[in-house]
Formats: sequence, C-alpha cells, structure tokens
Amino acid sequence: MSFTSETKTMLCRITHAKECCKRAQLYGMLLFCNVFESSKIKYVTEHSDSAELFCRLVFDVYSAECNHYVTEKKQSGQKSYKMTLNLVDARRIYSDLTTKNSDINREIFVCKNCREAFLRGAFIASGVILNPHKTYHLEVRTDSVDIAEELCALCAECNINVKISNRQNSFFVYAKKSEEIETFLAFIGANKAAFKLMDAKIVSDIRNNINRVGNCEMANLDKTICAAQEQISAIEKLKSAGKLANLGENIVYTAALRTENPEMSVGDLAKIHVPEVSKSCVVHRLSKIISLSKEL
Ligand SMILES: [Zn+2]
Repeated sequence: MSFTSETKTMLCRITHAKECCKRAQLYGMLLFCNVFESSKIKYVTEHSDSAELFCRLVFDVYSAECNHYVTEKKQSGQKSYKMTLNLVDARRIYSDLTTKNSDINREIFVCKNCREAFLRGAFIASGVILNPHKTYHLEVRTDSVDIAEELCALCAECNINVKISNRQNSFFVYAKKSEEIETFLAFIGANKAAFKLMDAKIVSDIRNNINRVGNCEMANLDKTICAAQEQISAIEKLKSAGKLANLGENIVYTAALRTENPEMSVGDLAKIHVPEVSKSCVVHRLSKIISLSKEL
C-alpha cells in the first residue's frame, strides 16, 4: 500500500461528533473531487475507504444516495470507484455549499474544528504524500487557480505553510519541507503519518551526520545505523570484488536485506527474513561479511 493510501485510510477512520464538521469535510471532498457543479457531481477514487466515506457523508448530511460504480483494470486488478448524484440532489447540495462571494465558502466553517475537517476532506479527495523515507512531498490538486490561492490562504491562517505550483492545467498546493508536511498532517488528524515522517527525518539526519563526520564517532547517537553503515560498506566491497556471490545463498540474502534496510536493528532484520531466522544467525552472517571484506 502506498504512503498516500495508508494516510488516507487512517484519515477516513476519523469520525465527527458534530454535524457542522461532517458538512465541512464533505465540502472539502466535493470542492477537490472530479466534478462539482450545480448540474453534476462526480467523485472518482481508487481508494475504497474514501469512496465509502463519501457515500456515507452524502447520506448523513443530505439524506441523498450516491450512484455507485466499480470498475477494475484488467492487468493490475486495481479497482476504481465512481460516485455520482442525480440532478436534483446535485443542485440541492451545490447550492447549499457554495456562495457567490468566494471560491471557498467560509460560512461552512462553524466550529473551531470545521477547518481541519475541510482540509482533511480536501486531502482525502485529491491529496498525495510521498513516502518520507524517499522524499518529502505533499500536495493537493485542483483545476482552479482561485481555489488553490484560497486554500493557500486558509492554510496560512491555520499556521500551515504551503505554496502553489502548476503543471498540465492543474494547480498544486504543496509542501516540501518536512516540518510543513508534519504540521499539515497533524492538523488534519494524520498523527501516525506525521510521526512516521519525523522518524524518517531522524534517521536521515543521523545518516547525514555520520556522512559529514566521515567516521563512526557520531554513531554513539545510534549504534544500529553505525553498524549498518559498516556492514553495507563491507557488502559493497565484496560485491565490487565479485566475492559476495561465493558466500552462498543465505549470506547473499541477508546482505540484500541489510542493504535495503539500513536503519533496521539486527533483531528486526532477523524477523523479516523468509523464513524467519534467529538474531544470532544474522549476526554470524554479517560478521562473516565484515571479516572477509577486511581480507580484501
Ligand atoms: Zn464543526
């Protein structure tokens, strides 16, 4: 599951006690969905929890039923959920939520939690967040530059710093700094995702520090990473000398797992082996790699 889906699943589970917040979240989902017009409402997603949430909110807030279609891609088996509303309901919902005065109707925000519910809805409908272990990037897409600008202003009022970019006729309200992404996620209730991001940042900070100092002194901060760095360099050394493959399938497998998971403790590394092996077995294999690399 992608980091975006994981985060959205988490967000879809948040329930609202207040009617105003339900309406604000639905408004966020509608304003950032595929079509939100007085004559047509269409919400398309590949995320099943988000499809379910959309139908539930439409029913709870407006007692309206969504027309629901599911299609499946032949090759990947990826399902896509499409929801539409009949003309009468679309008109009723559109006129209840929109105003001529602005692109984001702030009259919808009644209580102090309505803004967070709205932003959560917007993110669920058209947000993307990349895996923080690879890169920091969060964005919410819209076709309207006016909505993008108002969303930016709204975020600023909530102390969330975001910017706007555009590509292929779409506008993206985005954050690229880990602190900004963290603030956004925590504000909309994705605390677990925010924590993951902080973890990723700590690991990469430690790695950067180790690289900067150029030796393992800094690794008193984190012995795991220091040891892993040593193991990975040994693996690389054996590999480039063409000697790794000679060590047998088991050691090659452990070496590959270590290279893919530099931040993992030896205990955790043992657990992800299939079949699982003991910690001492992993220690033995890694020590063998290190001692052989020293002979080169
Ligand atoms: Zn509210």
